[in-house]
Amino acid sequence: MKNILVVGGAGYIGSHMVKMLLAHGYHVVTLDNLSGGYRDAVLGGDFVFGDLADKTCLNYLFKGYQFDGVMHFASFIQVGESVKLPGKYYQNNFANTLNLLDTMVAHGVKNFIFSSTAAIFGEPHYIPVDEAHPKNPINAYGSSKMMVERALQDYDSAHQLKSVCLRYFNAAGADPEGQLGERHLPETHLIPLVLHAAHGKLPQLTIFGQDYDTPDGTCVRDYVHINDLCQAHLLALQQLLAGGNSAVYNLGNGEGFSIRQVIEIARQITGKSIPIVIGERRGGDPARLVADSRLARQQLGWQPQYAELPTIIQHAWQWELTQ
Ligand code: UDP
Repeated sequence: MKNILVVGGAGYIGSHMVKMLLAHGYHVVTLDNLSGGYRDAVLGGDFVFGDLADKTCLNYLFKGYQFDGVMHFASFIQVGESVKLPGKYYQNNFANTLNLLDTMVAHGVKNFIFSSTAAIFGEPHYIPVDEAHPKNPINAYGSSKMMVERALQDYDSAHQLKSVCLRYFNAAGADPEGQLGERHLPETHLIPLVLHAAHGKLPQLTIFGQDYDTPDGTCVRDYVHINDLCQAHLLALQQLLAGGNSAVYNLGNGEGFSIRQVIEIARQITGKSIPIVIGERRGGDPARLVADSRLARQQLGWQPQYAELPTIIQHAWQWELTQ
């Protein structure tokens, strides 16, 4: 049985990944500091409470287990906050990730799957965004992830550490079986906030700017189902375990939806009214982000199962109703 370390396995994407790995017969160890995750979201395997800043803890962990691969989801993710507090993002998302990579090297663990992001591209020069698109992040969140991607090239050259970087566009939705979902505190992502407003937990949804160069003036994003993202991680892991080379893939559905379109679909799915107000632009937001994911389809054999936005919102709503 292959032994996989999932760093950040108690968080939104990590917890769905742990569930999928267990279902595919992997032994899973979750490392999480529970700063943004929940112990009860880890549905199986071993759980270790610890922080990537703690090299002693990492060393201990890698001595105790022989890992075949590492998946890394533990990072701060708020674009707006990263503009205001860049050091927090560089420290955790970049510097602490080096601790993890160095521990892997010290213990001879060679396979690494990295949670990257479309934010590494900044304001796109063309749409859809493929892997060759220039990287020019406009917020510290994106920069911190781009720096890890760059470091991974050097770790491959120097230490033959193989990695797959998966650049998510907008991760959304929830476990189709209803066991897991998005529970960020504070919640800053669009779809859960729209659903909080539909549920009456929020008085209204604030649209951050409607003067963008898009058809209705609101930002356009490519929403991709959490399970489809996890599926891509599983395929990437299998590729590395089979001796594959390092790679990077953009993950999205190739279709952009504006904030107003998301709200309209959510109104239809929930049958609830969703009051909106128009606010200021949020710092660090590109107008449009849509993925070209053909490479992941060709090379990984990735086939999203839940590509339709109404399905993604339906699963998120099913989860929201349990909260
Ligand atoms: N957004 C918004 N109101 C909110 C939360 C988000 O208008 O309460 C916008 C945000 O500015 C961006 C889009 O929704 O244009 C998606 O934001 P999210 O934080 O979900 O993901 P991101 O694109 O930052 O990864």
